[in-house]
Amino acid sequence: MKKYCIVAALIVTLALVVTTLYIVETTSVTYYHGFYLLLALLNTVILYIVATTKERDEQQDYTALEQIAFRDALTSLLNRRAVDNFIDKIIARSERDGSKFAILYLDMDNFKPINDTLGHDVGDNVLLGVAKRLRNLVRGNDVVGRVGGDEFVIILDEINESSLAFITAERVIQSFKKPLNVDGHRISVSFSIGISIYPDNGVYRLSLFKAADIAMYQAKENGKNGYKFYTNELDDKVKKSRTMNIALEQALAEEQFVLLYQPRINFNNNHIQEVEALIRWKRPDSGLVAPSEFIPHAEKSHLILSIGAWVINEACRQCRIFCDRNEPTQISINISLIQLKDPDFVATLKQAIDTHGIDAALIELEMSESYLMQEVEEIIPVLHKLRAVGVKLAIDAFGKGYSSMGYMKRLPIDTIKIDRSLINEILINQKDKELVAAITALGHVMNMSVVAEGVEIDKHLEMSKKLHIDAAQGFYVAEPLEADALHDFYKERGEKIS
Ligand code: C2E
Ligand code: MG
Repeated sequence: MKKYCIVAALIVTLALVVTTLYIVETTSVTYYHGFYLLLALLNTVILYIVATTKERDEQQDYTALEQIAFRDALTSLLNRRAVDNFIDKIIARSERDGSKFAILYLDMDNFKPINDTLGHDVGDNVLLGVAKRLRNLVRGNDVVGRVGGDEFVIILDEINESSLAFITAERVIQSFKKPLNVDGHRISVSFSIGISIYPDNGVYRLSLFKAADIAMYQAKENGKNGYKFYTNELDDKVKKSRTMNIALEQALAEEQFVLLYQPRINFNNNHIQEVEALIRWKRPDSGLVAPSEFIPHAEKSHLILSIGAWVINEACRQCRIFCDRNEPTQISINISLIQLKDPDFVATLKQAIDTHGIDAALIELEMSESYLMQEVEEIIPVLHKLRAVGVKLAIDAFGKGYSSMGYMKRLPIDTIKIDRSLINEILINQKDKELVAAITALGHVMNMSVVAEGVEIDKHLEMSKKLHIDAAQGFYVAEPLEADALHDFYKERGEKIS
């Protein structure tokens, strides 16, 4: 544009010079030519100023437009559109020169709780801090973009070896081990990273993104804060896992879950005063599905939080019915580690207890020994909060070899449930029998009640009594029963019911 304006100015100047000379030649008025020349010069200057001003405005407009169209408003990283353009460009180039590039798709593991607990302003500053740290991690010609709320991409252009992708992913993980300092908070951030490589995992932008997304999903399932390269096998696995997630969400929405109740007999008075709630999935066309078929999956995908909340509410609802019928009513509920670690867990439990107006002491939470002992420091404060709500606490599947006596002393626990693998051995293995006796004595020293699990025959029951165990649960006493069948069972046994 500037060029054209200067050319135009020169033409006008030339025309003015020619006109001046013509006037000088054809008229006798000679002293005007200096004036005309001056005018011509002025014309050039004006046109030049106009041209350069316009140029500057256009440049500014273009930069502002580019900022809106291709930059993320918060972090100034490339936005989705710019990332897409960049990938399309390097695909075209890589096709020609046979080079490789990698897409690292980063999904933040814990952004929602940060936003929920500290507010959106802090959340925004966390994203800014993340963007800055990511930018500092990559090479000059690599690209960092923000492609969603808490989703980022790093594109490593022209890599010879996929090992560079591995090194960069590792660097991201290591770098975020140091918390971010945001508005006076020290905030820990971690990422699950999926990696796809051009052309090994796809030759189109969309297929490369899909591959990176699948790998990222797997990194999440593997426990987050890690990375995964895409493979074909992963594709199958993730498809199955996503189908299962959809089916479980549908099961919750369509009330396909049901609780069975397995009675526990109390040796003190030979009555049934406690039952354990055990979930089943009434899957259309598949019959009753056992928890081992879907609870591990629900734990991985964190759907256990909503399924677990349903279990708690349903158990409390049933507890109310038991109370109203004047039947033995303590209900034990199995709790997964993910639930215990959920900041909303105590509130969810309390709300269910309040909604159904039951005595909190009628609810017992069963927590597996294996995870209690692994995460004991983090869990102990939660256990104290639960105690304050008034529920009872039990260690489930005890005796599989995880417990440390030092920790046992510190745990606020009411009940030990001895694992059925040990109870199965008490008739045939002297050492296991002695171990069960020792666990029982230990439990009593710490004022805990001791329950034998997996009591399958009368001799298990007799031996449990001899070893001073307090109560027993197992197929010999009763199988897990639907609530109505449990009512009939009480009647048959002549339990005190109204
Ligand atoms: P668990 O808490 O150890 O539950 C006892 C399991 O042993 C139940 O299996 C029960 O049916 C079975 N069982 C009871 N008596 C006997 C017996 O005499 N012999 C044998 N061989 N087995 C017996 P189920 O119902 O399949 O549950 C398996 C596991 O699934 C439970 O183990 C618990 O860890 C988990 N689970 C069940 N319901 C829930 C739930 O609502 N939430 C969570 N997070 N986990 C649950
Ligand atoms: Mg249990």
